[in-house]
Amino acid sequence: MKVNVYWMILRTRFRASYRIGGYGWKHRNMSMKQAPSNSPSGTTTTSAWDLSPAEFDFRSDTLTTPTRSMLAALESINLGDEVYSECTTTQSLESRIASLLGKSSALFVLSGTMGNQLALRSLLVQPPHSILLDSRSHVQLYEAGGIASLSQAVTVPVVPSNGKYLQLEDVQKHAILGSDIHFAPTRVVSLENTIGGVIMPVEEVRRIGEWARGEGIKVHLDGARLWNACSVPEPSAELLGEYSKHVDSVSVCFSKSLGAPVGSCIAGDERMIANARRMRKAVGGGIRQAGVLTAMARVAVEEVFFGGKLSQANAFAKILAEKWAALGGGFTLPVDTNMLLLDLEGRGIDDEIWKGAIEEGGVIIWGDRIVCHYQNSPSAVERAKKVMEIACKAADERRRAGGPKKECGRREKKAGERTYGQSN
Ligand SMILES: *Cc1c(COP(=O)(O)O)cnc(C)c1O
Repeated sequence: MKVNVYWMILRTRFRASYRIGGYGWKHRNMSMKQAPSNSPSGTTTTSAWDLSPAEFDFRSDTLTTPTRSMLAALESINLGDEVYSECTTTQSLESRIASLLGKSSALFVLSGTMGNQLALRSLLVQPPHSILLDSRSHVQLYEAGGIASLSQAVTVPVVPSNGKYLQLEDVQKHAILGSDIHFAPTRVVSLENTIGGVIMPVEEVRRIGEWARGEGIKVHLDGARLWNACSVPEPSAELLGEYSKHVDSVSVCFSKSLGAPVGSCIAGDERMIANARRMRKAVGGGIRQAGVLTAMARVAVEEVFFGGKLSQANAFAKILAEKWAALGGGFTLPVDTNMLLLDLEGRGIDDEIWKGAIEEGGVIIWGDRIVCHYQNSPSAVERAKKVMEIACKAADERRRAGGPKKECGRREKKAGERTYGQSN
C-alpha cells in the first residue's frame, strides 16, 4: 500500500514536470507505471529493471535502482539464516568489503544511517563522551539525532576553516582533551568523504588519523560516497584501502550511487565489529535470509564501482558544471565528483525562476543541488543543461527589465525542506 502511494505521488510529480516541456512524457509515464511490483507479469514490454525510473531525476544518487544482473544474482544465493551466521552469500560480501577496506571484519547493515550509528556506538565506551564532526555531516544532521539516543554523546560540530572539509588544525582546535571535569572528552572524530561532493584528500585523513591515535581518540569515516571519491578518474581499490588505513571504522553504502536496493557495510577490527553485530540485533537489524540483499549489493560493487560506472556519473557532472560556468554561474562548493552546488543567488536566479525552468526542462532537481548518477542518460543531461539556459535567460531578462530581484531560493526555503533535498 505504502509503495503504491509513493508511486502515485511520484507520478503526479512527473506529470507536473512534463506539463510544459511535454516531450518524453509518454515514455516516462509508461516506465513509471510499470515500476511497481504489481504490474502484470509475463509482459515483454520495458520494465523498471531495464530502464531506471531515475533517468531524469537529479535529486540524489540514492535514486539509482537495481538492475537485471542484480535480479539474476538472486538465482544463485545461499538461503542460510544470517542471524545464525549461516548465510555464506552475506559472509562472502562482508569478507570482500573487509579486504577492500583493509580491515579484519565487516558487517552488513540495512542502511548508511544504521552503519554510522552502530559504528560510532561501538567505538565509544561510556558517557560522558563527545564526538567531533563537521557541522554539515550526515551523522550530525540527518540521522534523526541517533547519536543522542544510541550513544548518549555530545557532538562538537566544527565548521571547516577551508570551507570544504575538516583539516587537522580544525580538529586540534576543537578537540576536548585533558582531565577537566567540566567537559565531555572527545573520544571519536567522525569524518565524511565525499562531503557535499567534495573529496577529502587522503593526506588530510592521514594527518587526522595519526594525531588522533596519539591522543587515544578513535576515528570513524562515513564513506557513503567513498566509492565516488575513489572513482576519479578511474575506480581504485588501492585508494579505498589508503583512506581506511588511517581510520578505525568505515561505512560504505551499496544503495547510494551503486544501485543496490538496500544496504551498507561497516568495517573495523574484530572486536568493534562483534560489538556492532550485537548492537545491530538490539535495534532490530538482524536479517534472516540476508542473501537476497547481499547478493544484489555484491553485484553493485563489482559491476557499478569496479565497472567504472561512477566515473560516468562524474562525467555527467563535469558536462553540467562546464555549461553552468559558461552561462556565468558560480558554485558554492567545488565540483570534484558527481554533485553540483550552484550559486543560484549569485546568478540572479530566485526560487520562482528556478522552479519554472526545472518544470519546463522536464527533470527533477531539488533546490540548488544537482546530483548526477550513472543511470542518468545523455538526454537527461541535455535537459538539465536546458534548465540552466532557461533560468539564466529569465534572470537576465528580469535584470534588464529592472524587475524585482527576489531573495534566492536557498534563503527562502525552510530549513527542513532544504535539509532533505540536500543531504541524502
Ligand atoms: C545517504 C548518506 C548516509 C546514509 O543514508 P541511508 O539513507 O541511511 O542509507 C550516510 N552518510 C552520508 C554522507 C550520506 O550521504
